[in-house]
Amino acid sequence: MLTTMKELFAIAEKRNCAIPAFNVYNGETAMGIFKAAEEADACIIVQMYSRLFMSEDKEAEFIAPTIVEAAHRSKCKIAFHLDHGSCDEAVFRAIKYGCSSVMRDASALPFEENVAVIKNITRFAHDLGIDVEAELGHIGFAKDGVTTDYTKVDEAVRFCEETGVDALAVAVGTAHGHYKQAPVLAIDRIRELHDAIPAALVLHGGSGVPDDQIRAAVKAGIRKINFGTDVCLAFLDGVREVDPSIIGVDTFMKKPVQCVKEFALEKIRLLDAEGTNND
Ligand SMILES: [Zn+2]
Repeated sequence: MLTTMKELFAIAEKRNCAIPAFNVYNGETAMGIFKAAEEADACIIVQMYSRLFMSEDKEAEFIAPTIVEAAHRSKCKIAFHLDHGSCDEAVFRAIKYGCSSVMRDASALPFEENVAVIKNITRFAHDLGIDVEAELGHIGFAKDGVTTDYTKVDEAVRFCEETGVDALAVAVGTAHGHYKQAPVLAIDRIRELHDAIPAALVLHGGSGVPDDQIRAAVKAGIRKINFGTDVCLAFLDGVREVDPSIIGVDTFMKKPVQCVKEFALEKIRLLDAEGTNND
C-alpha cells in the first residue's frame, strides 16, 4: 500500500535498519523494484528525479500513475518520493502526480535561505499529509571529488527546529554518481547527527559505497539510503545480456527487469530491511 515515509522511518528506527530508496526511470525499473520488495517482504521508497517531472517530455506523467497504482496494490508499504526537487514547481507537480513525500533541495543556497525555502514547503506539504526531505551540507558529485566538509551538528539541530523537516540528507563522505575511489564515510558524525536531531538521516550517493561502510552507517543511525546510479547500471547490464534478435519488447525487457530486481534484493538485505513489512 502507498504510505508515508515517516511511517517507514518509525519502523527503521525501532529495528535500527535503513529503508532503501530506489530511483526509477521507466516502467521496467519500477517493475524490478516492486518485485524485489514483494519477495523480501520489505518496506521501500520508490523515488523519481525532479527532471522526470520538469522536462519537456514530462516522463512522470506516464510513470507516476503506474507507481501509484502498483503501490496501492502491493502488499508492501511503499512510499513514493520526489528526489532532489529543484524548485517549488517540481514539488507541486510531484504532489499532483501522487507522491506521498517530497525532497526540496535548496542545499546550494546559504543556510538562512535554505531554511526559508524548506520552512515554506513543510508548512503546506504537512498540511496535505506529505513528508518533506531537505539537504544540509553539500553532497556534490563523485566526479568532482568527495568533500570532507561534513554537515555540522549544531546547524542540523537549528535547521530541523526552524523547518520541521521529516528527513535530512547530510554530507558525511558520499557523493552522487560513480566513484573513482571507494569513499570513506564519517561514521562518528552520522552517530552525532542521529543523536542530535529528530529528522531521519538520509545517505545520498549509496551506489558504489563498500558494504561494510553501508552497514556501519546504518548502525550509526542512517534511516534512508538512495540508490540511483546502480539501478541504471543493473538495468543496462540486463539490456546488454539480451539476445538482440528478440523483437517483442516485453520479452526483451524480462532480463533487465530481473537484473534490477536482483540488485534491489541485494540492497534490501544489506540494509537489513528484509521483513520490515511485517514489523
Ligand atoms: Zn541525491
